[in-house]
Parts: sequence; C-alpha cells; structure tokens
Amino acid sequence: MAITVDPVLRVQDLYKQFGDEEVVKGISFDIPEGDTLVLLGPSGSGKSTILRLIAGIEQPDRGRIWLHGRPVDHLPARQRNIGFIFQSYALFPQMTVEQNIAFGLKIRKVPASAIRAATGRLLGLIGLAEHRHKHPSQLSGGQQQRVAIARALAYGPRLLLFDESFSALDAATRVNLRREIRSLLREFRLSAMFVTHDQEEALELGDQIAVLQDGMIEQIGNPSEVYNHPRSEFVATFLGTANLLLGRWWNGEFELGTWRLPSPQDSLKMENGQAVKLIFRPEDVVLSTHPAGPPQTLGSGAVESVSFVGAYERLVVRVNPFSTAANLDESNGHQAGLPLTVTRPKWEANRLPLSPGARVWLALKGYRLLPHFVLQDEESVERVAVGQPRVIDRYTNGAGI
Ligand code: ADP
Ligand code: MG
Repeated sequence: MAITVDPVLRVQDLYKQFGDEEVVKGISFDIPEGDTLVLLGPSGSGKSTILRLIAGIEQPDRGRIWLHGRPVDHLPARQRNIGFIFQSYALFPQMTVEQNIAFGLKIRKVPASAIRAATGRLLGLIGLAEHRHKHPSQLSGGQQQRVAIARALAYGPRLLLFDESFSALDAATRVNLRREIRSLLREFRLSAMFVTHDQEEALELGDQIAVLQDGMIEQIGNPSEVYNHPRSEFVATFLGTANLLLGRWWNGEFELGTWRLPSPQDSLKMENGQAVKLIFRPEDVVLSTHPAGPPQTLGSGAVESVSFVGAYERLVVRVNPFSTAANLDESNGHQAGLPLTVTRPKWEANRLPLSPGARVWLALKGYRLLPHFVLQDEESVERVAVGQPRVIDRYTNGAGI
C-alpha cells in the first residue's frame, strides 16, 4: 500500500505586491520531507520576500501555504515552527552565546532545566561549547553564524530558512559551514530552504533548485536537470558558465557560418531560418591538436589564454565560424573570432599541454539548442559568459574580423 506523506512545505500560487511593484508572481513548489530547496536568483528577484511570506513575517496578497499538510495562512510567525537564519547573524550583542541559543526557548516558557539540556546539546553540535560565555563580538563570522543556526534549531523546527546565510563569510568558512549544515540536516531529517545568488552554493545544497527571475520561477528541478537541461538562456547562464552562440535553424540543424550541428533534442521543432541559440558548458568542449571527426566539431581555433582555477584549467579559445582554418591563422593576433570558454581537468591538461597561440580543434560532448525569439541579422553572434561581467561579442560576417 502506498503511503503518501505530506510535503513539509507546499506553496501554491503566491503573489505579493509592494506599492505598485509586483514582487512575487505566482510562485508554487513543494518541499518533500527531509529535502532541501534552493531559491537561486539575482538581487531583487523576490527571494527574501518569498522566505518572509513562508515564515509569516509578511502576508501574501494571494496564494496559500501549507506546512505538513496544514494551512498556515492565518498563523503568526511564532506559531509556524520555522527556523529563520539571516545573512547578518542577528545575534543579540549583549547576550552570551549560551543566552542567545536559549532565547527562543525562554520566550516559549520552556522549563529552565530543559533549556540547559537543549543548550548544552546544541553547543556541542556546533562545536562552540568552550565559547559558551563569550559575546558575539568575540566570535568570528563563521562562529556567529553557527550560533545563529543553533538558536534557530533550539525550539525544534522542522523547516529551516536560510537567507543568504553564508554570503558574509570568507570562502573557506563558507564551504565548511555548508558541508556541516548539509550533514546536520541529514542527521536530523530536517528540511531547509536556502536563498542564494551563488551558483556553487545552489548546486551543493539543493535537492531541488528553483531559478528565480523577476518574481517568477524560470525553472525548478534537481541540480543535474537544471544544469544540463536549462530551459532558457537566463537559467543556463545564471547556473554555471555557458557559451552562447546565436545562429539559424536549417533542416533540423544549428547553422552558423561553416558550422553545422544536429539538434540534440528530438522534440525541438522550428522553422527554417529561425534564430536559434547554441548553448554549451565549458567542460563540454573537447580540445585536440588534430581535426576532430564529425558531427559535433566546431572546426579549429587559437588558444588565447590559459589559467588554473583550482583543479581545473580554464582556456579562452578564439574560433571563427565564418572563416576557414587558414584564414584564422592569417588574422594574426588573438583578437579575431569569438572567445569561447573551455575548462579541462588537470589530468587532461597534463596529457595535452596547451599554451597561448596554440592551434586546437574543438568538438562538443554536449550542447543544447534554444529558440531565440528576437530576430537578429543572420550572422550576428552573441556569446555570454557569466561569473564575469556579461560579455557580449557581436559581429557581422566580413566586418570587424
Ligand atoms: P531579493 O531577496 O531576491 O534580493 P527581495 O525579495 O528582497 O529580493 O526584494 C524584491 C523587491 O521587492 C525589491 O525590489 C525590493 O525593493 C522590494 N521590497 C522588498 N521588501 C519590501 C518592502 N517591505 N517594502 C517595499 N518594497 C519591498
Ligand atoms: Mg534578499
């Protein structure tokens, strides 16, 4: 017999307006028991507002919220049993670590002995037992955030909401704290929602990722779905780096200059001549020093720069779909053509060392095609890499190369 378990949180068709500005526009999702959801989106996209609606700090104009199958629309924040962890640690500066953690229990009139037991256990859990008598100002950022988490856990919430809770921490602390929280959530079978604009954080913390733009969910799914099958340019470039080239659809193929790539998606149906975007990840480009075989080749290009980013090598390779390989050579200098971002793991970089100026052939392990609804000049090309300022190179065949 199938047992259906209510999701920890169900949000249905949530709307919120401030003045004339509609900030949340029809948000719906479920968080199953023990799962995490990451809301990923740029600043101002409505992430914090959604968390505040769920916590009961703000009231929605429309839509409904259920916790464990119970509608909570009329429950005040304190009765929703949700832990909220803010970006600024929001600890009480005049209270010790211990008093901060105990605060939520005190105002809930929990007996002193039970408060002592809970506080002791939480101090151990966050590894701050020996700092129990310190004040927040005597702690590092990471330690303060641990106290904030312990304080939120003190009254036994089943759902934790983290609003950019790691963004003020240095990179190493952020990564460590993230891992600790992940194992804490698993251990206690707690559900959580994380709000972030950091893609790495989203991929690491989310069982589901919802990419938010302008108060709406552009795409929701598990990290691999959203990363490997982005449904829009915004999703592709906001979650990870993507190379983006604009071409045309001809008879089931992406066409740009001399390049032809078959559509990887059977379901994609477009009109001949329609503008279409080719999207591929830096790690999906295979470089070789000899011409690669069809069908997924992109011809050859010139290595412009090589750098190491942690365990990966990142290269910028200039390609020119409008020119034969010979012409690219003649272009002397590395400004000609389109810059593509390519990453390779260290072992691959060691197997085939490449330095600036090297000629390479490119093939794609994976790519997506997306319709491009704004019509452009046939040869106009754009390329976007996120993580850096948004770079758009646009040129017309024969001009500027
Ligand atoms: P995010 O967390 O994604 O950066 P927010 O939810 O904080 O976005 O804000 C979304 C939009 O709503 C912003 O334009 C912000 O100025 C506006 N906003 C948020 N809270 C209020 C409020 N209490 N009153 C008026 N406008 C608000
Ligand atoms: Mg915010």
